[in-house]
Amino acid sequence: MNNVKEYLVKLEENQREKYPNQPEYLQAVAEFVGTVEPFLVKHPEFMEKNILEMLLIPERIIEFRIPWMDDKGAWRINTGYRVQYNSALGPYKGGMRFHPTVNQSVIKFLGFEQIFKNSLTSLPIGGGKGGSDFDPKGKSDGEIMRFCQSLMRELQKYIGPNEDVPAGDIGVGAREIGYMFGEYKRLNGYQAGVLTGKPLAYWGSLARKEATGYGLVYFVEHLLNDCNDSIKGKKVLVSGSGNVAIYAIEKAQELGASVYGCSDSSGSLIDPDGIDLDLIKDIKEVKRERINTYLEQHPNAKFYEGKNIWDIEFDYDVALPCATQNEISKELANQLVKNGVAIVAEGANMPTSLEALEVLKENKIIYCPGKAANAGGVAVSALEMAQNAQRLPWTFEKVDAELNQIMKNIYETSRQTSLEYVGEFDLVAGANIAGFARVAEAMVSQGLV
Ligand code: NDP
Repeated sequence: MNNVKEYLVKLEENQREKYPNQPEYLQAVAEFVGTVEPFLVKHPEFMEKNILEMLLIPERIIEFRIPWMDDKGAWRINTGYRVQYNSALGPYKGGMRFHPTVNQSVIKFLGFEQIFKNSLTSLPIGGGKGGSDFDPKGKSDGEIMRFCQSLMRELQKYIGPNEDVPAGDIGVGAREIGYMFGEYKRLNGYQAGVLTGKPLAYWGSLARKEATGYGLVYFVEHLLNDCNDSIKGKKVLVSGSGNVAIYAIEKAQELGASVYGCSDSSGSLIDPDGIDLDLIKDIKEVKRERINTYLEQHPNAKFYEGKNIWDIEFDYDVALPCATQNEISKELANQLVKNGVAIVAEGANMPTSLEALEVLKENKIIYCPGKAANAGGVAVSALEMAQNAQRLPWTFEKVDAELNQIMKNIYETSRQTSLEYVGEFDLVAGANIAGFARVAEAMVSQGLV
């Protein structure tokens, strides 16, 4: 074993010993550490300065109590988290997730990945992430509001336009951002740039809502263009039917692809006539209902109760996982292979398990890691910060054009970096190395070692 390999193995072992109960975090570390060896061989100075170990440890983790009153007058308590992971490139930036599965491991994995994703955008943003184990499902609007206000009463002590700028993620959209923004304003005065993903009425950015989904499809389009192909005419399935999924479907359809399926946590939907996106938006964005109500208007479609969409036998070209972590297991990756899928591009964060990734690799399926492919959301959040600082709103067309260019750059950078360091096309290694190189350089030049 060479020096670098030994260093990396030890580093990973050390994290396993320290955090045996943080499987998601360890998975994100393993995926990352498994790819950076060629970079450290060429740049041993970063190993000598132990930059990687420093990167693994968040600058700080804030964990706090969130008491709130439900509609019956009972006190309920949840736990809130904010991981301020790395500020070498700018203020901490990353979303807030409200989901019962949230714990420190989940927020750490998301925050760790966010460092490299943000670095890949080439914009001045550091890495952070947060959330709560609060379950928004079945809660009234008043309950959501009181929860968001209570969360912000504590979180406001640690954030600010130049310190840490949260945004949305699973369970957090413009409504929740609005309630959090209002509470921050009550306590600190008006500061437009303290949160992104805001409603348009008060300094939200046009195209932020669409950015992650659109950016994902732009990424796939640049990849296909590189092979003298395009997404036009391709058959696509998408998991989830939330913010990322909906706008991935919209852009894929706009560019001429046929999207046949999407899902939610209750099951999966296949419409042989192609997904009716206006109806999905009405069900999920307006009425906040379950996806099976789609069948009332499209009896030709089929709903698979409780079934993961990647478990369905269907002939298609592009899989866009846009729901949650580890939704593609090894078995489901084998099903993707059987279905003849050529590209898996991640709208969600870490939706593919490490074992599934191996299956995709062995079968030469092109794999676009979330770190690169779903960076459009945070990129437009950074553009929202720029608009807030300028006090000038940009047009939809301007933001969208910037987003497309950023996704093109991220694709190109990831491709070229993998060719330079690994000698073959490998977007995982390319994205990890390119993201890491910029942060590592910044850390060293700021005298952090
Ligand atoms: P939303 O809350 O808007 O939507 C999430 C979707 O995924 C819903 O359809 C939800 O179903 C489904 N889902 C969530 N958890 C599960 C589960 N355990 N099993 C099955 N389905 C599930 O979230 P987003 O669209 O914002 O986020 C989706 C993914 O994209 C996440 O991994 C997030 O981290 C990532 N991401 C989001 C960005 C953003 O800008 N929003 C930016 C970059 C990445 P149901 O409706 O039943 O709850």
